[in-house]
Amino acid sequence: MATLELRGIKKRFGDFYAVDGVDLMIAEGEFLAILGPSGCGKTTLMRMIAGLEPPSAGEVLIGGVPVTHLPPRARNVSMVFQSYALYPHMSVAENIAFPLKARGMPKSERDTKVKWVVGLMGIEGLVKRKPGRLSGGEKQKVALARSLVRDPSLFIFDEPLSSLDAQVRAMARGELRQLHDRTGVTTVYVTHDQLEALGMGDRVAIMNRGQVRQLGTPQELYDDPADTFVAAFLGSPPMNLIERDNRIIGFRPEYLQPRADGSLAQGALVFKVRIMQLEFLGSEWLIYGVLEDGDGENRLLAKVDQPVASKLRSGESRDFVVERSCLRFFDKTTGLRIAPSAAKLTQ
Ligand code: ATP
Repeated sequence: MATLELRGIKKRFGDFYAVDGVDLMIAEGEFLAILGPSGCGKTTLMRMIAGLEPPSAGEVLIGGVPVTHLPPRARNVSMVFQSYALYPHMSVAENIAFPLKARGMPKSERDTKVKWVVGLMGIEGLVKRKPGRLSGGEKQKVALARSLVRDPSLFIFDEPLSSLDAQVRAMARGELRQLHDRTGVTTVYVTHDQLEALGMGDRVAIMNRGQVRQLGTPQELYDDPADTFVAAFLGSPPMNLIERDNRIIGFRPEYLQPRADGSLAQGALVFKVRIMQLEFLGSEWLIYGVLEDGDGENRLLAKVDQPVASKLRSGESRDFVVERSCLRFFDKTTGLRIAPSAAKLTQ
């Protein structure tokens, strides 16, 4: 277990910055998820932490010790990728013991460690099998066991679950997080899947174009996005963003609801919406609408419960309402969040 600190990390390929000045402090035992679209620099950043890629600028510190110029083996970082890279001719037990053997650990000690990690991962029944006879989820567990047996100070996961199918993936997500809670190894987990990042991370760093756009708890990022990129990137579907009074107003689809009879709460915003389509999501409905007032064609999304949806029809126009407390305001030019007091609204 150790802290991880990144100071002004940059990586330049030619005249392109894949990572463009990242500062992060990750606490001992923390699970930090790094979330961002494809090509935003996640893997490059992880490779610099692991020592597989030298940074063009900046410093990496593990446990407070500068490791920027140390080779990977001197960092005690364990990196788990999407591909498991298990040795096909070795049994599961041999695969797990391999890094210990390479280190010259005596057999009895190796056996004890393998037994411990196999128990921890709940894969006792697999130890004699060869990787060719394992499912994707099982291979992933073996790869994890092999990483864990080395007692790493830091775990780096780079999209480790992306080759699993949706159901196994949801299970693996839970198991991985529980494993972290049992071992307490400081973890950086890279993904472009927001369910993974929000569900697993103690904190999440949202990256775009080589920079961290926001760092916070999943709830902070969801409720209080720092800019329109984060607002539009997080949430499924993402936050509605519309232009009004020279500013961008954001609100989550679940806060946009058909106007009920009776008086309106103070400060609530009313939108006249033409309903284009209703989509069944299982536990709720997604309403695709177009804003009828205002300039241009603004599309809006609302998430409503079944009883509410049953009263709505495609093609009709309805008033929808958002409470004032659910509105977020952003600068039209920079996309950065602005204080509600600075955002006077006209109905
Ligand atoms: P993904 O989720 O698709 O894996 P990522 O966020 O991990 O993406 P990186 O692999 O870190 O992104 O790549 C970031 C950017 O740097 C990309 O535009 C990529 O093309 C570029 N890049 C990565 N490695 C190199 C390299 N060795 N030479 C030149 N450009 C590179």
